[in-house]
Order: sequence, then C-alpha cells, then structure tokens
Amino acid sequence: MSTLDTKVVAITGASSGIGEATARELAARGAAVVLGARRTDRLATTVARIRDEGGRAEMLETDVTERGDLEALVALAVDRFGRLDVLVGNAGIARTAPVADLDVDSWDAMIDVNVRGVLHGIAAALPVFRDQGHGHFVTTVSTSGLKIVPTQAVYAGTKNAVRTLLEALRQESTDGTLRTTSISPGFVQTELVDYVEDPELRAQYQDTMATFGISPDAVARAIAFAIEQPGDVEIGDITLRPTRQN
Ligand code: NDP
Repeated sequence: MSTLDTKVVAITGASSGIGEATARELAARGAAVVLGARRTDRLATTVARIRDEGGRAEMLETDVTERGDLEALVALAVDRFGRLDVLVGNAGIARTAPVADLDVDSWDAMIDVNVRGVLHGIAAALPVFRDQGHGHFVTTVSTSGLKIVPTQAVYAGTKNAVRTLLEALRQESTDGTLRTTSISPGFVQTELVDYVEDPELRAQYQDTMATFGISPDAVARAIAFAIEQPGDVEIGDITLRPTRQN
C-alpha cells in the first residue's frame, strides 16, 4: 500500500508547473487526483500519463475565477471517488511591475486568480469537509510574500492575503477536523514568469529561473509530505527555495 492510497486530492492549476508535478507525484504515491485548469489539452495529457502508470485521475476544465467551476471540481471528486480529502489551491499568475506603472488590469487579474480563486475553492470544499468530518486545504503561496522585493508588490500582497486566510481558517477550526498548509516556494522552473509583460523584466526572471530555479517536483514532494502526515498532525507552513536564492 502506498502512503497516499486513501486520499482523494483535487488540484487547481494542474495543467503545468507545480500543479502538474503535484498531480503526478501524489498519483504515484497512490492518491486519486482530480485536475483542474483552463488548458484541457494539457490536463488530458497528464491524466493519460497517470493512468498509463496505473494511477487514478480525472480532470475538469476549471477557471478559478468562476465560483461554479470550483463547485463542479469538488463535485467531480465526490462523484468519482466518494469524497474529497484535500484541495490544493495552486492556480496562480504573476504580473510584475512597479506600482507606479498603475497596471490596474494586472492587479485585478492577480487578485481574481490568486485570492478570489482560493476563496472559491474554500467555499466549494468546506461544506464537503464539514460533512465528512475532515479536510485539508493546501495553497501555493510564495517567498515573495516573505521577502518583499520591488515590482512584486501586488503579487506578494495576494500571496500574503492567502497565507493570512489559511492561518485564520486554522484558528477558527481547532476541533481537529480541518488542516491547512501554506507552501512557500522560491524560484521554481515553470512557465510562471513567461507571462510577465515587460520584456526586460521577463528576460531577467527567465534567466534566474533557468540558472538556479528548483524543479517543480521538489514542491510536489513538499506538498506530499504535508498531506501524508497522520490526521492529528498539521504541517502549517513549508518554505523551500534554491540554496542560491538570497
Ligand atoms: P505555471 O504558470 O506553470 O502554472 C500556473 C497554473 O495556474 C497553470 O496550471 C494555469 O493553468 C493555472 N491558472 C492560471 N490562471 C488560472 C485560472 N484563471 N483558472 C484556473 N487555473 C489557472 O506556474 P507555477 O507552476 O510556477 O505556478 C503555480 C503556483 O505556484 C502559482 O500560484 C504561483 O504563484 C506559485 N509560485 C510559483 C513560483 C515559481 O517560482 N514558479 C514561486 C512561488 C509560488 P491554465 O492556464 O491552463 O488555466
């Protein structure tokens, strides 16, 4: 029996990077995984790969800015696998620029995906967790929220909003039925910075990622570690970064 054989885990942002690596890692350890994101072609490839390797996986087109999409993702897990043990709220976007650029559309987009998206997941999963008598929220926040750097003000703000949200949820739920975990990665080699609009800034980030970013598999292993603890043990925070990151 693998360590996660009894777990059903839904993951947002599972079409690439950390979410995709997490789906594959958890499935390899025996979990049933339900993958959500907008790029269904990428989800289908990962689901097929997991199934080929003997794992259990389902997928659903999911835009986390739509509350109903999260409800449908949670419902799919319950329908196919009988329950939902963990929701990994991982979908996220990073748009970096000095605040004075007043890139308000990017601010709104980050708040919608990174904050509202996680709240939609909580709204969808918490009633199921309450009915079951157990549940676990894991979110991907960031070292950007711990060490503030120029051009990342709003991105870092969204990540710290989510960190705060999970800590408050933890304090409100001390009856032993709910676990919360915030994962704070540093630079991880993914597509995240490919969408930074300023070409010079984008090139700088891409260079940093390529030079010393860690593999998304490392974050996936950290998430697996938090999930596979016994039910009376909560891993509240994990920070992991490249050893060369300042
Ligand atoms: P990727 O760009 O590879 O992954 C981002 C994921 O989020 C994709 O699967 C994307 O799927 C999904 N996503 C974006 N918008 C939406 C939306 N509206 N609805 C549903 N899914 C959405 O980057 P990472 O893997 O790096 O990012 C994963 C998380 O890790 C993010 O929250 C990010 O902030 C965080 N993080 C990343 C770090 C890094 O250095 N890479 C460091 C610290 C934190 P699709 O476009 O198909 O919908």
